[in-house]
Amino acid sequence: MKVLVINAGSSSLKYQLLDPSTEEVLAQGLCERIGIDGRLTHKIPATGAKHEFEIPMPTHAEAIQSVIDALLSKEHGVIASMSEIDAVGHRVVHGGEAFNKSVLITDEVMKAIEDCIPLAPLHNPANLTGIRACQKVMPGVPMVAVFDTAFHQTMPAKSYIYALPYEYYEKDKVRRYGFHGTSHKYVSGRAAAMLGKNIEDLKIITCHLGNGSSVTAVDGGKSVDTSMGFTPLAGLPMGTRSGDLDAGILEYLMNKYNMDIKEMLNVLNKKSGVLGISGVSSDFRDLSEAAEKGNDRAGLAVDAFNYGVKKLIGAYAAAMGGVDAIVFTAGVGENSADQRLAIASGLEFMGVKMDAEANKVRGKETVISAADSQVKVLLIPTNEELMIARDTAEIVSK
Ligand code: ADP
Repeated sequence: MKVLVINAGSSSLKYQLLDPSTEEVLAQGLCERIGIDGRLTHKIPATGAKHEFEIPMPTHAEAIQSVIDALLSKEHGVIASMSEIDAVGHRVVHGGEAFNKSVLITDEVMKAIEDCIPLAPLHNPANLTGIRACQKVMPGVPMVAVFDTAFHQTMPAKSYIYALPYEYYEKDKVRRYGFHGTSHKYVSGRAAAMLGKNIEDLKIITCHLGNGSSVTAVDGGKSVDTSMGFTPLAGLPMGTRSGDLDAGILEYLMNKYNMDIKEMLNVLNKKSGVLGISGVSSDFRDLSEAAEKGNDRAGLAVDAFNYGVKKLIGAYAAAMGGVDAIVFTAGVGENSADQRLAIASGLEFMGVKMDAEANKVRGKETVISAADSQVKVLLIPTNEELMIARDTAEIVSK
C-alpha cells in the first residue's frame, strides 16, 4: 500500500509518499511560498536525487497538483498512475476533545476540525485547506486525519485541568491538550520494541526537543501528562517561545511598555525562548558555538533549556511513581550529545547512568545509558510521517 502523507502549513506543504508496511519512502518534498509564487523541492531517497522547480502556486490546490505531477513525472516520478496512491494521511494540529485517535475524513469530521479552529487559529485552517485541496485534486481517494493532540487525550483530569474557574473548562474548553502527540506515541512505541518489553509494562518519559519542545509521561503506552498546554506556547523554553511563565508578568510588561495583548503574544511567541535569553539565535547549534566563544547569555539559554527538561523528567518520574526509560528525540534530542548528557547528568540518584561514549552518536536508534543503568536512556529518531502513514493504512483497510 502507498500512502501520501501531507503536512499543510499556511504557506508551505510537506509531503512524503511511503509504504507503511516496508517503511520505504518513495519520494518526499516540500512546497514553499504558496500564495506568493511557489517552489517545489522533490527528493527521491532511493537515488538521492533532489529536484527543484519554480511553479506558480496561488493556492494549496496548485501545490498539491504540482506534487502529484512530480510523483507521476516521466523524469523524476516514482509512480505510473495516481491510482497507485491508496490513501492520504493528513497531519492536523488540533482535534480538541473530539478526537482521541486518527479518523477517516468525512464531512462531519471536517466540521469537527473546523470547530477546533478557535483552539488553533494558525494551524487548523491551514490543515483544512490542505485536506480540501487534496479532495479537489484526488477525488475519491480515502483520507485520514491524524491529530497532534489525540495521543494526549488519555491524560487524567488532574493533569489537564487548569486552576481557573471551572466554567472556563466546561464552557470554553480551556484545558491542557498537549501537542507533538504523534511523535511521543511513535518514540514510546519504538522504545518498548528496543527494550523487548510490552509497552503496557513500561513507564517512559519522552523528550521531543526541537525548535518546539515538549516532554511527555507515557505510562503503560498512554500519555498521562505533557508539558505543552492549551497551546504550544506552554512548557519548556523553545526556539522563540517563552514556555511557562508567571501570568502576572503580562500585565506588568503590557502596562510598562504600552503593549496590547497582540504585541505581548508576539513577544512570547516570536522573541522569547532561547532566542530571547541569548539575543543570538533560536538555533541550538548557534548557541553552543556562541557559548564556546564565551557568550555567557548563549550559555545561559542552553543551561535554562536543559534545566527545564531535567526538572520535567523529575516531575514525571514522580507523577508515574518511577521511570523505566527516558527517550530523546527531534532536532536537539537526536543531534546534541552535549545537551543529552547535561540533561541526564545529576539524575544518578534516580537510577540514570549515561554511557558517555555510547552517547556520542547522532540520529540513530541507540541505547545511550550505561549497561548497569537502572533507567534506560534511548536516542530514537522520530518519524511522524511513518506513524501517520501507519494509522492511515490501518483505518482505510478496515
Ligand atoms: P521542528 O520543531 O521545527 O520540527 P526540529 O525537530 O527539526 O524542529 O529541530 C530543529 C532544531 O534542532 C534546530 O533549531 C536546532 O537547534 C536543533 N539541532 C539540529 N542539529 C543540532 C545539533 N547538531 N546540535 C544541537 N542542536 C541541533
